[in-house]
Amino acid sequence: MAAPVIDLRSDTVSRPTEAMRAAMAEAEVGDDTWGDDPTVQRLEAVLAERLGKDAAMFVPSGTQSNLCALMAHCARGEEYIVGQEAHTYKYEGGGAAVLGSIQPQPIEMAADGSLDPARVAAVVKVDDPHFAMTKLLCLENTHNGRVQPMDAQLAAIDAARSAGLSTHLDGARIFNAAVATGTPVADLAAPYDSVSVCLSKGLGAPMGSVLVGDGELIGRARRVRKMLGGGLRQAGLVAAAGLHALDHHVDRLAEDHARARRLHEGLGAIDGVEVHDEMLETNMVFVSFGARGPSLQAELAEIGMECRLSTGVSRLVTHLDVTDDAVDAFVAAVAERV
Ligand SMILES: *Cc1c(COP(=O)(O)O)cnc(C)c1O
Repeated sequence: MAAPVIDLRSDTVSRPTEAMRAAMAEAEVGDDTWGDDPTVQRLEAVLAERLGKDAAMFVPSGTQSNLCALMAHCARGEEYIVGQEAHTYKYEGGGAAVLGSIQPQPIEMAADGSLDPARVAAVVKVDDPHFAMTKLLCLENTHNGRVQPMDAQLAAIDAARSAGLSTHLDGARIFNAAVATGTPVADLAAPYDSVSVCLSKGLGAPMGSVLVGDGELIGRARRVRKMLGGGLRQAGLVAAAGLHALDHHVDRLAEDHARARRLHEGLGAIDGVEVHDEMLETNMVFVSFGARGPSLQAELAEIGMECRLSTGVSRLVTHLDVTDDAVDAFVAAVAERV
């Protein structure tokens, strides 16, 4: 498929750059299931170091990375506490329950994505044969493009730790949070036992995620990954894309954030378009077109502008393949049509 003029559906749609493809073509490879792929090993070492953890494991997707983590933390009949709108609860096909026999204990999320520590403490179950055994708290950063304030994370984590739980962070976009706040990514990862990072979102790799944590946990996760069919062979080809992204595509996330602001301001100046200021923190813009949303989406698609617009609040996402000019053209196209 030819590249669209602009594609704001997600930051997963970006295509590997020429330089990234060159890095992939030159990658040294081996059989990673036997621990022989030097490029995968380098990627794992680099990410473990950057996130301040002992060990790391490369996986095909963020969903598999989170599931490996959940299954490494929780056995059959145990449970994890998670926000109602969290990816690890709502958007992963129920994998923890289906494949791990792990019970989710979802709780309400505040609008900013945080969990009330009192609520976390309240749903932890006592040791009683009636109940699943509560083992894990799972948070997400960024959530809906919003950076989770560290004090809110620490309050929820404290509640979990006091009850003897371990903690996992779905850090699919943790580098967006690090760049937006100017915080070292290791500081954002520090309070957690494990963190999952996506290479295929704003970082622009064609695929891949990495799970980091201590050596014992990652060892258990490797067993789970194999069981889930995620053991890879000459995966250095794609790990090389991740290494390239870590070298070249982290600081530039600030450009995606600036373009999201440009898009937000451009759309906000159009009569009949409502932008949601409090949601604008990283590379996601939240906007309402009312009843016009779905028909506008279809009209924009005809001129090569891809986005997903509902009658409610719609999400537009900037990434590596979105330029200032394309943002301006998109805003102009919307202004002509609403
Ligand atoms: C995309 C995403 C994932 C899953 O990643 P996939 O590679 O699409 O499986 C997990 N969590 C969050 C918050 C995400 O945005």
